[in-house]
Amino acid sequence: MNFDELKNTIDHLKKTCKCPQCKSSYKNKDISVIATTNIEGMMEMRCPKCQVSTMVTVVISSINPEIKEQLPRTHKTISDNDLLDVKNFLNSFDGDFKKVFTQIPNKKQ
Ligand SMILES: [Zn+2]
Repeated sequence: MNFDELKNTIDHLKKTCKCPQCKSSYKNKDISVIATTNIEGMMEMRCPKCQVSTMVTVVISSINPEIKEQLPRTHKTISDNDLLDVKNFLNSFDGDFKKVFTQIPNKKQ
């Protein structure tokens, strides 16, 4: 995911995602990039009002970024492998973004 793609993805998230709890919109500062590969990105969106944190996995398609999964809600069909990836990630995730960012291998690059 290059910078343009990342920027488009964040714009897309801001347009299409709202807090699952209070329906607030997200702004740039509410969205953290946790990890990206060539075509995928994992972001955390924290609601500016109620502080609920939501994880999203985004896949870059040729035209628009597609929001593949939003946790805790799942909107779209995902493959078993993808689900396993996210599960593994969440199992080992202790809230330390800095550590996670440096530990996740970019195996798809
Ligand atoms: Zn909220």
